[in-house]
Amino acid sequence: MSMSKEAVISTEGQHYMQVFARYQIVLSHGEGVYVYDNEGKKYIDFLGGIAVNVLGHAHPALVKAISTQAGKMIHCSNLYYTEEMALLSKKLTEVSGMDRVFMANSGAEANEGAIKLARKYAKSISPDKVDIITATNSFHGRTLATLTATGQDKFHHGYEPLPEGFKYVPFNDLAALKAVVSKERTAAIMLEPIQGEGGVYVPDEGYLAGVRKLCDETGALLIVDEIQTGMGRTGKMFAYQLYGIKPDIVSVAKGLAGGVPTGAVLATEKAAAAFHAGDHGTTFGGNPLACAAANAVFKVMDEEKLLDNAKAMGEYMKAGLNKLKSKYPALITEVRGKGLMIGAKLTKPGKDIVNRCLEKGAIINCTAGDVLRFLPPLNITKAHIDEVLKVLDETLAEQ
Ligand SMILES: *Cc1c(COP(=O)(O)O)cnc(C)c1O
Repeated sequence: MSMSKEAVISTEGQHYMQVFARYQIVLSHGEGVYVYDNEGKKYIDFLGGIAVNVLGHAHPALVKAISTQAGKMIHCSNLYYTEEMALLSKKLTEVSGMDRVFMANSGAEANEGAIKLARKYAKSISPDKVDIITATNSFHGRTLATLTATGQDKFHHGYEPLPEGFKYVPFNDLAALKAVVSKERTAAIMLEPIQGEGGVYVPDEGYLAGVRKLCDETGALLIVDEIQTGMGRTGKMFAYQLYGIKPDIVSVAKGLAGGVPTGAVLATEKAAAAFHAGDHGTTFGGNPLACAAANAVFKVMDEEKLLDNAKAMGEYMKAGLNKLKSKYPALITEVRGKGLMIGAKLTKPGKDIVNRCLEKGAIINCTAGDVLRFLPPLNITKAHIDEVLKVLDETLAEQ
């Protein structure tokens, strides 16, 4: 029917910018938690497009919502209202406790909007209140401002001069934060509630509440980057809800529309009021196709009780991984995470293990060099988890 694996890889190799270290398979389609390559081999997908495919692949309700909307209208300019955007913004405020929404097309763009909003808000208080404090080892995106917000040097190299006004402190260290935050200079503190790309780091219980308090004392806004942790991933709709705090600005993307490129900036009325007509904008952001997809994702999450499932399956998976940790103490030193955002810290680089699992038909990921990461669809079952744990067990036995 179509191109061979070799033809796809060599055509891409000649014509696409070579920025991705790709696995040598060509994916063709998926169904539920499974994907298939173009030679017909089946894989169980516990990466979910990096926390994007929250409903798995080709979920009938999502497919129907997208196809119906595509047949009506894919795009119209933000110069006009659509019912899809009105409904989505209402839903996003209800589930987040925020007051207003701005729709973007990706995580980086959502964070870019969050940073712009915080700067605009803080400038209205004082022209010197411009600093954005982020965490070392964080990840916030690849645009110039968001790669600068990302507290990892390797993402900065070659792109200097970088935007000014970004400062970094170690994650989960309130004292370090207190030492740099000031009433005069700090516009916002921007954090992932659980660090994702950095290696699945869960903060101590009181950390985010302490950050919230520091923001209140200094008039800094709290931006929570929920791009990976949001949309039910941790068993709550947003991870800050695990810690009982309310941010001023929240960025969302990845799972929001189940795979249709979409992001959102959510904010309290107080923060959102800093944006006036013409202060920010987008051509594609929040087009009816993306909004219809996101509305369908929320509907399925409610109907299929996916928050409860993410919590229960997360606990089941962590228990299974902890058994593997006991069985292979020389390979796994820690299992951590919340809900279906789980990391297993290894004593060596994880690349070979990930490759071997792929050969055996299981897609998992390794982040920060030595942390195996699992971000499966939220509608998985115990049988799916058992299937992946079995592959992992066999793979670890070979190491
Ligand atoms: C993936 C991610 C981003 C960037 O999202 P893109 O859609 O790739 O721009 C930003 N922040 C966090 C926490 C992420 O996990």
